[in-house]
Amino acid sequence: MSFEILMNGVGDAFSTDHFGTNFLARKQDFVLAVDCPDSYRNALNANDFKHGDGALAVEHIDAMIITHLHGDHVNGLEMVAAYRRFAKGGRLKLYTSPEVAEVLWDRRLAVSLGTLYNGETFETMQLEDFLEMHVMAWDEEISIGPFTIAIRRTLHHIPAMAMRISDGQATLGYSCDTVFDPELIDWLQDSELVLHESTFGVAHTPLYKLLELPEPLREKMLVVHYPDEMIGAEIDGLTLASQGEIYAVGKSD
Ligand SMILES: [Zn+2]
Repeated sequence: MSFEILMNGVGDAFSTDHFGTNFLARKQDFVLAVDCPDSYRNALNANDFKHGDGALAVEHIDAMIITHLHGDHVNGLEMVAAYRRFAKGGRLKLYTSPEVAEVLWDRRLAVSLGTLYNGETFETMQLEDFLEMHVMAWDEEISIGPFTIAIRRTLHHIPAMAMRISDGQATLGYSCDTVFDPELIDWLQDSELVLHESTFGVAHTPLYKLLELPEPLREKMLVVHYPDEMIGAEIDGLTLASQGEIYAVGKSD
């Protein structure tokens, strides 16, 4: 296959039966994580993805993208960054939008990670102590390991990014959190695999809108970010992504 998607969570913000939607794109040994909800390491443990001789863990992540600052996409970052800094894996490479990069430290992580007691005095910590930050431009593709990534603003409560992740052979399209947006669908639909959100609320996409899409597009689409109420539903014409599953993007080499 061209590359694979490890589906580490498929739930929405209020899910209790699933972890919040997040996934990892893996090509050979390179691991690119997308989003970091609550209980991130618990999710990796529960899903038990194989990696090398053992199980995939936080220290194997080569880079992480944060799409936006809602908790079900970023609440796990504090402890992942701390674990990497103090336990295993070293400083995390983090990629995000200009809007998120501007406030991530001052208005979120510094509240808890900004001061460290070393046994004698209180040290002031900086973002750079935990993260190697890379700001993604809205109008430029960026290379991360074997992947090229293009991002696009979605219509959501706060700035959020849809993305196309390509390895040069195949492309994954990811809607991120968004209202139903035909222009976004256009932007995503050439991809070999499309992950599209669906949940309740005016800033999200209702399922019936996805069911109205053309069949060839629905056939390569997996619904993510869905509420517990949808679990087990027989939906004619759409497939719900399964947490813990590994999906191929593109054909076998
Ligand atoms: Zn959101």
